[in-house]
Amino acid sequence: MKQYGELKPSERILMGPGPSNVDPVVLRAMSAPILGHLDPEFLVIMNDTMELLRYVFQTKNQLTMAMPGTGSAGMETVLANMIEEGDKVIVCVNGVFGGRMQDICQRLKADVTTISAPFGKIIDLDDIKDALDKTGAKYVAIVHAETSTGVLQPIEEVSKLCKQYDAMLLVDCVTSLAGCELKIDEWGIDAAYSGTQKCISCPPGLAPVTFNERAQKVINNRKTKVPIWYLDLTMIQNYWGQQRSYHHTAPISMNYAFREALRLIYEEGLENRFARHELNSQALKSGLEAMGLKMWAQEGHRLPMLTSAVIPEGIDDVAARKYLLERFGIEIGGGLGEGKGKVWRIGTMGYTCNEKNILLFLTSLESALKAQGYKIEAGIGAATAMEVYAKK
Ligand SMILES: *Cc1c(COP(=O)(O)O)cnc(C)c1O
Repeated sequence: MKQYGELKPSERILMGPGPSNVDPVVLRAMSAPILGHLDPEFLVIMNDTMELLRYVFQTKNQLTMAMPGTGSAGMETVLANMIEEGDKVIVCVNGVFGGRMQDICQRLKADVTTISAPFGKIIDLDDIKDALDKTGAKYVAIVHAETSTGVLQPIEEVSKLCKQYDAMLLVDCVTSLAGCELKIDEWGIDAAYSGTQKCISCPPGLAPVTFNERAQKVINNRKTKVPIWYLDLTMIQNYWGQQRSYHHTAPISMNYAFREALRLIYEEGLENRFARHELNSQALKSGLEAMGLKMWAQEGHRLPMLTSAVIPEGIDDVAARKYLLERFGIEIGGGLGEGKGKVWRIGTMGYTCNEKNILLFLTSLESALKAQGYKIEAGIGAATAMEVYAKK
């Protein structure tokens, strides 16, 4: 008979595009006793979660909750509930996740107009304006933080345009939520979704979503049924709302973890959290540049929670990442889509995002590069990063 040893995953430093490391407080919450999904105690946990999530999304939206599934389930929830067959949708694609939105919109048989920008660049506002002029689209769908490229898209101006043309704005906040400024209400975002395993630093498994009243009206006045039963908010909102009617069994332990992860964010405070991501990302970027690496994302629009760096010429991508993982237990991401084999994606998300990890990473990367014959001044990356910390 085959023997199966006890499960013992290694401790990793997760500096890829997600998942990020998880605070032990959050992990412990997952081993708490299971409550029934209609237990009054669990309903209190759900209410706390919705309140905390509104804080993190910076919104008063009533319909703010966590869907089962990862970030992509959030994407599908927002798109499948808002869009009906034939609806005109402008989808902005400057990376893999914009491409995924486009794919889902097409599957929903929307009338899709795609605006693109090269990977590594932001979407041009004039292109959105032209498309709105030409199509009179009902929706604009856009990614706030493109994790495949490391680009941060300014959303406020896009929102102003949408208001001008009376289009509704649907935003992917999977990587941006809890890592950089994101104001759902103030920026006029109609519907947004995220994931738990990026800057929220919770295990992957839930997808926070939020819809304003206008979006909620659209959902409740659909002419056709939402084509996906499992993610149909017209039914699920009755579980998270007053009626508490059963739709599917809530993933209890995931909800515990999520509640605790949100509580930790609330304790830290959003502003402090954003500042922490900004500082560590600056230290990382300065260190990498001092080591001779070039940034891939457009200057002025670089993410604070994910840095895309061009792999130096002559360096074997896979071998270097394997070296980091095996020797130092550090995971970073390879390129995705157009960036494959060309860039590394280095995450500084949530719980992982601290000085200790940045300095260890820069030193470890130096070792990995030197192992492949890369010429580099000893300690220059970490030393440069330390200067950034010292100035703070
Ligand atoms: C990670 C990510 C997704 C997909 O989330 P999964 O949890 O992998 O399903 C979608 N959009 C962006 C911007 C992401 O970074």
